[in-house]
Amino acid sequence: TVSSAGTLPGLVVAGFGRHCLVETPDGQRLICHPRGKKSQAVVGDRVQWLPSQDEGTVEKVEPRSNLFYRQDEMRTKSFAANLDQVLILIAAEPEFSESQLTRALIAAEAERITPIIALNKSDLAEPFGRAWAKLAPYRAMGYQVLPLAIKPKTDAPVANDTQYQQLLALLQAKKTLVLGPSGAGKSSLTNLLVPNAQVLTAEISQALNSGKHTTTSTTLYWIDAERASALIDSPGFQEFGLHHIDPMHLANYMPDLKVHAQDCKFYNCTHLHEPGCSVISQVKTGASPHEISASRYRLYSELFAELSQPARY
Ligand code: GDP
Ligand code: ZN
Repeated sequence: TVSSAGTLPGLVVAGFGRHCLVETPDGQRLICHPRGKKSQAVVGDRVQWLPSQDEGTVEKVEPRSNLFYRQDEMRTKSFAANLDQVLILIAAEPEFSESQLTRALIAAEAERITPIIALNKSDLAEPFGRAWAKLAPYRAMGYQVLPLAIKPKTDAPVANDTQYQQLLALLQAKKTLVLGPSGAGKSSLTNLLVPNAQVLTAEISQALNSGKHTTTSTTLYWIDAERASALIDSPGFQEFGLHHIDPMHLANYMPDLKVHAQDCKFYNCTHLHEPGCSVISQVKTGASPHEISASRYRLYSELFAELSQPARY
């Protein structure tokens, strides 16, 4: 299907710096370069491209349903678009950070997509129990928390596992970004769902004629033959960039605060110091069934201050 401008459609399946790997509707892949600033594409983007020798040029990026940013040291960069959901993979061990979890949930809420929390290493009974309890407020907020044992120490066959089957059902016909702190089991999950992941990565770096570009690349892996369900993996990536978020909208992206914020006296309440603030009074009394934990309120005020600083692009 050639457009009137002579361009061809494609999907960006890997990104490295300003360049990307584009997959055509018939499954071929080629390296593409941006035409200009406006045609800088990220993984998940639908693009129109033009062939030039055996590579291509991205002429146009189709409108996005959402766009995600990551925080790389001092810079905020977009890295993935058009996601259907985010799978936040944490584990019984090492202990997860509530701050990282909250940031990931806010990034998803701000782009209006569903986050799923997966708690791995359910075979480690005692730490799992502790982590599960720590997630109770998140379950109360309505988040789905899925227990998993991706690579248990015992040799139990994971494919028969009902929790794993539940995960597969959740991933069906969706593009899912997997995110998690190191040690949670992200590579174990990718290797389980995408048995040829390493081969694909090697192919990409070969196509680039150099391994050096691939170290920070984001990759989309199909997990079914129909190319309907995909995992998006970003090595080493731990934190979303949130600097595009207006601090005045922050409470909307935290369901536990949001239910109370509706009752504040002032419509533009920051929930930090105002009289008649329903959020503050709730944190003080803790009487409602929709509790705001002290740690979540602290994260809210820290993030509010952070997002009120000028962005570091
Ligand atoms: P990544 O850093 O997130 O990519 O995590 P890895 O996939 O490398 O896993 C980190 C460690 O956790 C490895 O030693 C895995 O074998 C182990 N691991 C992964 N899944 C499980 C699990 O379900 N139970 C237990 N006990 N260990 C696991
Ligand atoms: Zn308030």
